[in-house]
Amino acid sequence: MRRGRLPAGARAIPAAPASARTERSADRRPTCRGAAPVTDPSLAATSEVAAILDVSLTHGLSSPEAASRLSAHGPNELIRERPVPVWRAILAQLRGALISLLLVAAAISFVVWVVDGDASLPFDTIVIVLIVLANAALGAAQETRARHAVEALRDLTAATAAVLRDGAVVRIPAGEVVLGDVLVLQEGDAVAADARVCAAAGLTVAESSLTGESEPVLKSTATMTGPATVGERVNMVFSGTAVTRGTGRAIVTATGQATEMGEIAGLLAATPHDPTPLQRETARIGRTLGLAVLVVAVVVMVTVLLTSELRSAEDAVTVLLLGVSLAVAAVPEGLPAVLSVVLAIGVQRMARHHAIVKDLSSVETLGSSSVICADKTGTLTAGEMTVVRVVTASGEATVTGTGYRPDGRVEADGQDLRDSESDLRTEVALVLQGGSLTNDATLRNVDGAWTVEGDPTEAAFLVAEQKLGTRDARAARFSRVGSVPFSSDRRLMTTLQSDASHSGRVRVVTKGAPDILLERCTELQVGSHTVPLDEVRRARVLADVDRLSGEALRTLAVAYRSLDVADAPDVDESIESGLVLVGMVGIIDPPRPEAARAISDARRAGIRVLMITGDHPRTAQRIAEDLGLTGPGARVLTGLDLDALDDRGREAAVRGTTVYARVAPRHKLQIVDALQAGGDVVAMTGDGVNDAPALRSADIGVAMGVTGTEVAKQAAAMILTDDNIATIVQAVREGRGIVDNIRTFLRYLLSSNMGEVLTVFVGVVGAGVLGLRGAAPETSVVVPLLATQILWINLLTDAAPAVALGVDPVMEDVMARTPRRSTDRIIDARMWAGVLATGGVMAVVTLATIDLSLPGGLIPGTGSLTTARTCGFTVLVLAQLVNCFTARSERTSAFSHLLVNPLLWGAVGLSLLLQVLVVYVPALNTAFGTSPLSLQQWLVCVGMASVVLWMSELRKVVARARQSPRAAADRP
Ligand code: ATP
Repeated sequence: MRRGRLPAGARAIPAAPASARTERSADRRPTCRGAAPVTDPSLAATSEVAAILDVSLTHGLSSPEAASRLSAHGPNELIRERPVPVWRAILAQLRGALISLLLVAAAISFVVWVVDGDASLPFDTIVIVLIVLANAALGAAQETRARHAVEALRDLTAATAAVLRDGAVVRIPAGEVVLGDVLVLQEGDAVAADARVCAAAGLTVAESSLTGESEPVLKSTATMTGPATVGERVNMVFSGTAVTRGTGRAIVTATGQATEMGEIAGLLAATPHDPTPLQRETARIGRTLGLAVLVVAVVVMVTVLLTSELRSAEDAVTVLLLGVSLAVAAVPEGLPAVLSVVLAIGVQRMARHHAIVKDLSSVETLGSSSVICADKTGTLTAGEMTVVRVVTASGEATVTGTGYRPDGRVEADGQDLRDSESDLRTEVALVLQGGSLTNDATLRNVDGAWTVEGDPTEAAFLVAEQKLGTRDARAARFSRVGSVPFSSDRRLMTTLQSDASHSGRVRVVTKGAPDILLERCTELQVGSHTVPLDEVRRARVLADVDRLSGEALRTLAVAYRSLDVADAPDVDESIESGLVLVGMVGIIDPPRPEAARAISDARRAGIRVLMITGDHPRTAQRIAEDLGLTGPGARVLTGLDLDALDDRGREAAVRGTTVYARVAPRHKLQIVDALQAGGDVVAMTGDGVNDAPALRSADIGVAMGVTGTEVAKQAAAMILTDDNIATIVQAVREGRGIVDNIRTFLRYLLSSNMGEVLTVFVGVVGAGVLGLRGAAPETSVVVPLLATQILWINLLTDAAPAVALGVDPVMEDVMARTPRRSTDRIIDARMWAGVLATGGVMAVVTLATIDLSLPGGLIPGTGSLTTARTCGFTVLVLAQLVNCFTARSERTSAFSHLLVNPLLWGAVGLSLLLQVLVVYVPALNTAFGTSPLSLQQWLVCVGMASVVLWMSELRKVVARARQSPRAAADRP
């Protein structure tokens, strides 16, 4: 390893990168990841920086060296928050006001037990503490699970970076970038680390995230002469900024926390996920319910105190425990955590289906999307480009063969043009040559399979050129000396080529959208000569474009001009003028086979799919027809049309237009705004750096995982790992399924809690009517259920069944409904009515069972208060388990999807088993105030609990009969 010397003001790194972490950062932040050994690399020449960091600018680092630097310095990441230890997570669960109250009540009961000097164990205290602990552990486990799921998501969406390793450009996770890596930058890349620019071609970087400066900065390789601010260091690129144009390379000089971004961010805690609208709504409901339940609990306690003659302190404690337990059981404190788990599990399920959702709230928004704006190329179409036609002044050639395998022929009138010497052949060769010269793609043959790296449109030219057999001659003659990159705004790409056959001359070669390129051309190639491009010839070219586009072909034209080297201007857009038009190609990009189905699914679900493309309007129109998006001759709105309209005009226009062509990224923003102004919830796809504003502004920005730039991925809420429209529709389905599951789960939880509250409330208030008072001369406190029983029901039914319900499979009919409006309440009046009705039925059957089991009641058995309570307690547990199945829908019968979720059956089975233990195990009998039940009594309990099912089925029959056919499709 060599040592280098840095200029004044700079600090050299020690000999080996292994010890390269600066003392300063090591001292200050012992857990710091990453390193920055070069104090100010902008003051050093690139060769010096490369020498210090011991890297070859042509080969990059070797893989073993990169691995050893990674283990020496740690990953290129900002520090995340430390994980919370289990005991603290559990403690955090115990901090709630109600739980504290319950623990205080348990403590009081303990004190009373001590004072009384009772011989038996303080069962109430022990059971309550155990149940509270079990609940806290469950809550902590759920929160940990939710956090892990969110972290796994973050890893899924981790940024990547292209670097030079072992002489080849490879894309690696940004976290694996190390000191000395050579970053290979192009438009749309997010810069992964601080780096010294060592090559730049129009490299322009947006640094507003770091410097606040909104204008992108043009970078260069020149060494700075003195220290400068971050914004002024034009020979550096910084972590967290984005390449907006051009290409370049840069040597990594600082990673992780040692980057400028790390310095600013300091100790960056894991960004807390903002609560989703659903989570906010449920939290609000939880608070309101909490208040209501507290009032009920106080009323219950006061009623018992007024109506019973308390004989001892123990009686008073029983009342206190009952009230507090009721409050604890009925307030859905664990709701937010369960919601997070359900959302996170849904998100993981979506990831398995190629849709990575970055934020939990997007899941909800997805479910209510009413419009999907899809890019045509690669999303609605396969994105596999093949040149099939070449049209020039002398005629038209056909190219055979499909895909990227360069097997096929370029022929005219059935004759292979390889062997021809016609004008047509000369022109076709020039078109394919021009297309291959303005090209950044590479074709690869891996084990007989041809793949493409780079833009498929450009690769199509390389393949066609190989079919004509002119590749080698072109490669030997021309070499690129400069370029003006393609952008969706300009729809042109130009390179400057030195020409080995004419020393002293360079050639400007441009390819791009024919209608745009035509405006930059003054002449037309005919054989080996050029003729003026008069109006008649222009009209003919445009007619050809229209003809090819009408056949669903993507059209690109090629033009050139030769210049003396001495006259060669700066390589910028100004060189794209006075060109000679050579001809154009028609490229086939077939619709994705699954797209038509996805579009019809979306339509059935009340979602409009719009096609947005930079392609020619005729091409767009034809593909839209082929996909069944529109009928023949449907209106196409172009970017120019959109520009000509004002906001209101656009809002009206987007309402009736499905196909948008020749649009630039800024038009996407206009479309999103106009749709949103009309009340739509918009999902918008995008891939380029310029799509970022539209992706951010859409309700759901959807970035392409395969072809998308890092910047687009960072701006989006969802990333498609297969770039496929069908995946978006599938994600909407999942999103709707998750919202349905949350509603099911809320319906279950709230109606179950309502059952508990009403049972105790009505039971206490109506104790005389029930005959409780006379039934138990041994105690003066007459309550239908004991505190421990209530807590047990809560533990049993809230945990496993509730979570199992959250992962119900998506119901068949979710895509047969119109989208849920984002303003719709998650719990509407109908659901509240259902909750009240089910809770009411639960209370009635529980109390009826108790009443009928009391001495002299209709239910056979011993007839003691303890048995009666055990029966009531069991009925309430069973009723809640039945409720798992009925809560799935307000209309559909519980029997229609009884078997869809094995997890739910497992959870119900477990709860049943535990209840049987509580009824039969003697120690548990003492702890929970229960007594064993006979088979007959069990049958009665099951029968009583099943009333909840029958009543709910009855309500559903009435609801189905009442609903209009339209509304039938709207809600489950
Ligand atoms: P979308 O992905 O939104 O459907 P698109 O891929 O159809 O968009 P662009 O990539 O912006 O749209 O292309 C618009 C037009 O620009 C194309 O019809 C073609 O004529 C031209 N074009 C596309 N790619 C290139 C390229 N690499 N070089 C030169 N011109 C190109």
